[in-house]
Amino acid sequence: MTINRRTFLTQHIGCACHIAFMAAAMPLAARRALAAESLGTIVAKEKFGTLEKVADGVWAHVSAPLEGDRTTVSNGGLIAGRDGVLAIEGFQTPAGAQWLAGKAKELTGKWPTHVALTHYHADHANGVAGYLAGADKPPIRSTARTRDLVIERNQTPPDPNRVAALKDVIVLSPTETSTLDLGGRTVKLIPRGGHTDSDVTVELDDPGVVFCGDLVWNKMFPNYVDTVPTKMATSIRGLKRASASTIYVPGHGPVAKNADIDRYLAMFAAVEAAARKAHGAGISAEDAGNNFELPDSLGMWALFNPAAKTFYQRAFAAWYKEIKA
Ligand SMILES: [Zn+2]
Repeated sequence: MTINRRTFLTQHIGCACHIAFMAAAMPLAARRALAAESLGTIVAKEKFGTLEKVADGVWAHVSAPLEGDRTTVSNGGLIAGRDGVLAIEGFQTPAGAQWLAGKAKELTGKWPTHVALTHYHADHANGVAGYLAGADKPPIRSTARTRDLVIERNQTPPDPNRVAALKDVIVLSPTETSTLDLGGRTVKLIPRGGHTDSDVTVELDDPGVVFCGDLVWNKMFPNYVDTVPTKMATSIRGLKRASASTIYVPGHGPVAKNADIDRYLAMFAAVEAAARKAHGAGISAEDAGNNFELPDSLGMWALFNPAAKTFYQRAFAAWYKEIKA
């Protein structure tokens, strides 16, 4: 079977698989501007991304998939306490998880003692077995739904190590907040939804840090592949905090503050308004997405090549599904 781009885009399960196609047409200056943004102190820089310290004992990994290296693809990070270190996300490849684990060792003296997955998409989960490559075997936390979806749907490529790693996950409640004590530091794992069937945010109260998974994308247009938009909007509003000092680590794009979340919500609402209008006028999601442009006032949302219209079309299709229901 030959896989053309359309087949790939519609069948490949991953939320950032479109980024590789965006990269080719994205102007170098814009790519560089996106890659250069950081809120914290950079402690490691690789072709595939940048690790930055965003608070004491908290590091955000911001991937740079537009540069063409797909070792990690999604964002993630580390939270360290007195007794343990939590690694967030499994990334696209085991090499990505192993790299982050090595950084944990350098920065804290410890290989991760815990791992958490925010959702099942390949670029966040497929490399999770990389954490188990050494002598240390940190337990992995995810919801049962996320575990099942990784095992069932993430087949490119299939990986028995990944399946074995997930068999023993510590199951997170799909309805109640779970906590993890790292020693003098309690992490909250909060079940949410809307980007997929099961999303979890990983949060600290003080310092205020929210690892958002793919409920938040910053300056990159989100992939609506599994999205239930109204549910996602509720989750975004739910994770946003009043405190201006809050740091948000999005699933893709640079680390964000409240103003970025507001801009993201405005973008989300603009897509909704356009989808409702087009649906009311009897225009197909395909045509409506194809004709859609985000207003300049919403700033940059990385996708400005012809293939990008596919992602607008997918966003419109997600809204149409809800409007019809
Ligand atoms: Zn995703």
